[in-house]
Amino acid sequence: MELIDKTVNGLTFQVSLQMERSGVAHGFTTRTGGVSRGIFSSLNLGTNRGDDPALVRENYRRVCAALGVDVGKLAFSSQVHEDTVRCITAADLGKGLDKPVDYDADGLVTDVPGAVLTVFGADCLTVLLSDPVRRVVAAVHAGWRGTALGIVERAVEQMTGRYGCDPADILAAIGPGISNCCFETDEDVPNAMTAALGAAALPFLSGGAGGKFHVDLKGLNALRLERAGLSSAHVDCSPDCTFCRPDRYWSHRYTGGERGSQAALIALL
Ligand SMILES: [Zn+2]
Repeated sequence: MELIDKTVNGLTFQVSLQMERSGVAHGFTTRTGGVSRGIFSSLNLGTNRGDDPALVRENYRRVCAALGVDVGKLAFSSQVHEDTVRCITAADLGKGLDKPVDYDADGLVTDVPGAVLTVFGADCLTVLLSDPVRRVVAAVHAGWRGTALGIVERAVEQMTGRYGCDPADILAAIGPGISNCCFETDEDVPNAMTAALGAAALPFLSGGAGGKFHVDLKGLNALRLERAGLSSAHVDCSPDCTFCRPDRYWSHRYTGGERGSQAALIALL
């Protein structure tokens, strides 16, 4: 199924209906509904991009109010395009907005109720995971490097290995990001995918004319989730391309890096 739009208090985000029914609060934010100005207009959730910290904090207050979660229990990722997945404990709550993040991780996983796992994107994909049986959630940042490294599979491995989840129970939502239509690359990106996945990657790679390729990161991450044991019926995906919709999303490529950040957030209720 596709993610759908939801608007609460003037703030529009995307959600997975089956994930909403699984006992979690979650959402993939858009640009709308915040107080930031200029290139950050309006719902910038990036804290290190040059925006006024007071405005970013107000944006977080609005997002957390719309989702019904505690702004004091945010736990941020500190993204470095690798495949480390950190288990978030109560000691990590507040890291990002209220105090420094003292770890690098492109993925977060937790069984702590109320902890608001937060990952960022502006072309790179964000992926949320929820196991309603064992009551475990995860949030992942997957650009092309993370996709090649298999970070979504590392997250599922943490959920199964550390928390005892059955992959057949896990729901996934792949958020807005740069899509096959607009993700034009040199040969390094498709080569990384075939090196990691072999011929299974080929349906998600195209082009080659003039040395340029198109890469379907959403499809590759869905493939990886199914390799990890998830049911394809449990993997929802946003239809939105960040590059195609500069009115609605920040795209790193479209803006040349002059931009704010979207976030994907998830918490066990
Ligand atoms: Zn596009």
